[in-house]
Amino acid sequence: MKVLVINCGSSSLKYQVLNMDDESLLCKGLVEKIGIEGSMLTHTKIGADKFVVEAPMKNHTDAIQYVLDALVDKDHGVLGSMSELGAVGHRVLHGGDKFTASCVVDEACKQAIRDCFPLGPLHNPANLMGIEACEKLMPNTPQVAVFDTAFHQTMPAESFMYALPYEYYEKYAVRKYGFHGTSHRYIAQTAAKMLGKDPKELKIISCHLGNGASLAAIKNGECYDTSMGLTPLEGLIMGTRCGDIDPAAIPFIAEREGMTLKEIDTMMNKKSGMLGVSGVSSDFRDVENAANEGNERAALAQKMFVHRVKHYIGAYIAEMNGCDAIVFTAGLGENGKTMRKWICEDMDYLGIKLCDKCNDVRGKEAFLNTEDSKVKILLIPTNEELMIARDTVELTAK
Ligand code: ADP
Repeated sequence: MKVLVINCGSSSLKYQVLNMDDESLLCKGLVEKIGIEGSMLTHTKIGADKFVVEAPMKNHTDAIQYVLDALVDKDHGVLGSMSELGAVGHRVLHGGDKFTASCVVDEACKQAIRDCFPLGPLHNPANLMGIEACEKLMPNTPQVAVFDTAFHQTMPAESFMYALPYEYYEKYAVRKYGFHGTSHRYIAQTAAKMLGKDPKELKIISCHLGNGASLAAIKNGECYDTSMGLTPLEGLIMGTRCGDIDPAAIPFIAEREGMTLKEIDTMMNKKSGMLGVSGVSSDFRDVENAANEGNERAALAQKMFVHRVKHYIGAYIAEMNGCDAIVFTAGLGENGKTMRKWICEDMDYLGIKLCDKCNDVRGKEAFLNTEDSKVKILLIPTNEELMIARDTVELTAK
């Protein structure tokens, strides 16, 4: 079965087509500037050149129509006809506490995505637009929604509750949800395969370190705790997000700067993190280069990032009473060997010992621990699209 995987943003859309008979990637692409001037589709058939279409695309339906045209294009396409496409899988940011797993899209599913608009105000409306555009253009092709939050729904209440007055949980569902769930689930499954064990007998700490970053404590194949919260702002220091701070800093700064809550929210999400501390960039490579050239704030940002990751690793080992494997994934986790080294440094007390030689690797599955390390250290390139496609096949083959 061939599956189209779609990740819709408010003005952009990423897609892939996978042949799920052998899980091979056939093509991938990106539509940018949907609904604004300069709309553009970049389509890459695997093993062939890029194909670019510049045309006005006033909404997601227009954009997806261009994607479908590219998929069946006689030179650049990967499908003989649209009937070869078995199903579409959509990445959806927020499923609230309604979804513990992926689901076939129906009216109830769409309503639940709508109900979560307040929790994912930027992403969920765009995700739903993508689903509705596909329904319009491919009314007979089943659609599946895969939620970034679903994997974390196994967290116990002591992990996900905030110690605020209980009424805010009851009235507004204010609690920790966690994100990157599809990635953490892929990591848990792939790590178990690499270790030759059943996920049910493993304690894993999955470190998804990209521009957005989160850790998950995965016990017996299920999420036990994760570092992102009600929104993706909580937890680690990220490219432009501050992660954990004393919440009292918010009124303190707002009063002195005369900032509104919305301005504070933007500052914490877009102007903080590696960018805010270093003053250089949100990109870990730029910060690393600046630090190597002697920029002290860039070096400080790196140290703070490492410190926070260590903090969570320690917490999760304590929460799970042990850890069999720590896994690094996403842009920085897959490529940043210096950061991996610093994170694992001085943790031999916890049985964590990185092998410098094994750590000299990028972007492929590998063991990074020394032979005598009690905790295995793995590098696994994440593949959220493959996970979405697997769920899509599983749910629509029935
Ligand atoms: P997201 O999907 O959250 O946008 P990615 O997972 O693509 O993010 O990760 C992007 C981050 O990975 C960037 O900050 C980038 O600097 C970092 N990264 C990519 N390659 C390297 C590398 N070779 N060394 C260090 N960091 C890297």
